[in-house]
Amino acid sequence: MNKEILKVENLSKSYKTKKHLFAGAQEHVAVRDVSFTLHDGEVLGIVGESGCGKSTLVKSIIRMIEPDSGSIELFGRDFLKLKGKDLKRARRDIRMIFQDPYSSLNPRMTVFDIIAEPLYTEGRLSKKEIADKVTDTMKRVGLDLSFARRYPHEFSGGQRQRIVIARAIITNPRIIICDEPVSALDVSIQAKVLNLLNDLKDELGISYIFISHDLEVVRHIADRVVVMKDGEFIEQGTCSEVFDHARSSYTKELIDSIPVIPEFAS
Ligand code: ADP
Ligand code: MG
Repeated sequence: MNKEILKVENLSKSYKTKKHLFAGAQEHVAVRDVSFTLHDGEVLGIVGESGCGKSTLVKSIIRMIEPDSGSIELFGRDFLKLKGKDLKRARRDIRMIFQDPYSSLNPRMTVFDIIAEPLYTEGRLSKKEIADKVTDTMKRVGLDLSFARRYPHEFSGGQRQRIVIARAIITNPRIIICDEPVSALDVSIQAKVLNLLNDLKDELGISYIFISHDLEVVRHIADRVVVMKDGEFIEQGTCSEVFDHARSSYTKELIDSIPVIPEFAS
């Protein structure tokens, strides 16, 4: 097995919620004691019903929200201890793609500026270097270069998700966390975007954590899969182990509830 590049141990995250005005705050455990490792070059799928804590888990991993407890080792370093410049640098290596390509793109920025933004933020490259990098990246994700001066609303969901992917890969990340990256897209477009992600993985040597509530999508792209329920990992293994020989009755039910989509039948 390849090197471990991300190691998460006993990660937990709760939200404080108030059911109604006069009730005291209650704690809702969204992620409970989750542990797993991601290896170099691997695609780890995370499946589970809506609300089971998938997004909370990955947002905690990149510290978009701070986890309550647990440890995260990224390329052998304690990610939770990183601050300032070190944290910024580490965030170039681990990037995130969200589900909704409509709300995740700033409508007032051109496609060029959206894709270039992570490089502007870094402030390491010249204007010319940034322009070259954006051009390369647009070509790589299959975006026409004439799109650069246009705005996100002019594009379809599939094209927008390519823009999102371009912005994610422009910092040369080693890991991309994809949170339901094709769930908002038409089924005919889903396969194209999945194939792009697959190609990028091989060409650029990126590892993915790939979340979906759609098991067929995960089966299409993942090497290994974990099943999440009520904030916990209840089953993990290779796709074949989990999908063909599910141990828990919950996983079996999830599998039985899948509608067959012809595009992914193979
Ligand atoms: P998933 O991505 O699997 O659909 P989430 O991580 O979004 O699940 O949510 C897990 C649980 O945490 C759900 O019960 C959800 O309602 C709750 N939750 C998510 N975000 C918040 C928040 N910001 N404040 C309070 N509760 C939240
Ligand atoms: Mg989610």
